[in-house]
Amino acid sequence: MYNAKAYAVASAASPFARTTIQRRDPTPHDVQLEILFCGICHSDLHQARNEWSGMPTVYPCVPGHEIVGRVTKVGSAVTRFKAGDLAGVGCLVDSDGTCPECQSHHEQFCPNAVYTYNAPDRHTGKVTYGGYSDSIVVDERFVLRVPANLSLAGVAPLLCAGITTWSPLRRQGVTKGRKVGVVGLGGLGHMGVKFARALGAHVVVFTTSPAKVEDALRLGAHEVVVSRNAKEMSKHAGSFDMILDTVSAVHDLHAYLHLLRRDGNLTLVGAPDEPHAVSAFGLIFGNKSLSGSLIGGIQPTQEMLDFCGEHGITADVEVIPIQKVDEAYERLLRSDVKYRFSIDMASLKSA
Ligand code: NAP
Ligand code: ZN
Repeated sequence: MYNAKAYAVASAASPFARTTIQRRDPTPHDVQLEILFCGICHSDLHQARNEWSGMPTVYPCVPGHEIVGRVTKVGSAVTRFKAGDLAGVGCLVDSDGTCPECQSHHEQFCPNAVYTYNAPDRHTGKVTYGGYSDSIVVDERFVLRVPANLSLAGVAPLLCAGITTWSPLRRQGVTKGRKVGVVGLGGLGHMGVKFARALGAHVVVFTTSPAKVEDALRLGAHEVVVSRNAKEMSKHAGSFDMILDTVSAVHDLHAYLHLLRRDGNLTLVGAPDEPHAVSAFGLIFGNKSLSGSLIGGIQPTQEMLDFCGEHGITADVEVIPIQKVDEAYERLLRSDVKYRFSIDMASLKSA
């Protein structure tokens, strides 16, 4: 074991504080990374503040699952990475590799999946600690190759916000000629816009923030609707093939089901703890479907990163020092993020 620097919360109400955590020395199958950037996902906030009743937080909690860094050491059996390579780690750090979910590249649903933070760590007997840290040790199977042509601060958010929006867009067959809506222009939403646009769709953003209209167009939307304006919303009734909903709080889903065409799909990726209200009538008139989507497996994550490399896609980031993580969380709660916070981990050296 060795000591790593990290930022942790000690309880749901505590601010972040500098701490020291123990990481394992790399086993033969492990890759050790020096973390260069870590994105801030709204899930980090939900988890740090113990907002998910189904996934109680174990404290101290070190969040962070949008990790990009440089390989510092590899175990003797590692074949795909060597010291000095750039690499990424997302929401998963382990799974059994043998179950039907792993065999079909859905490691996130493996009964033995291990999440990057707040999950039982079979190596240490404690919980896993995430990317708000100067280093991490991860099994090679969960380490991603990072395209060399992309800015690293903007690559980090691809490891969660990227794959979480890429997966449902691909599953729904989004392509040229489809009309796709993206609800909520935050970290996930702005990646959804970039991907839907790159896949050839006609993209409409729904935002509660009138000040984001220009940015939405710049990010790739063809049209922007301020969702609090009922008249603007009704213009799109019955017209969408798919709507991707990234909103982190409970809101009215019927406003969006109403905008789907026959057989259209509304996919939820936003994860508030409280239930949404859904009337059967909103779905049965028009054979509509409502579905959900959880991050994505390792192979699709690599495909998404390779697609980003080919198309020059990264997240639009505000780079912050780790000392500003509490302030960043407060801004997330005010929907004031443009459009992902990416922590420059060099700031942890002086902390
Ligand atoms: P974020 O950056 O905070 O963006 C959320 C956006 O939703 C806000 O910027 C805002 O956009 C909109 N919004 C917020 N509160 C709202 C409200 N009360 N009513 C309507 N719109 C509201 O968050 P994120 O990191 O993208 O994450 C979004 C959600 O996805 C979180 O719940 C997170 O836990 C979840 N998540 C799920 C997965 C998965 O695998 N399914 C993976 C990662 C994250 P506007 O200003 O444009 O309205
Ligand atoms: Zn996330």
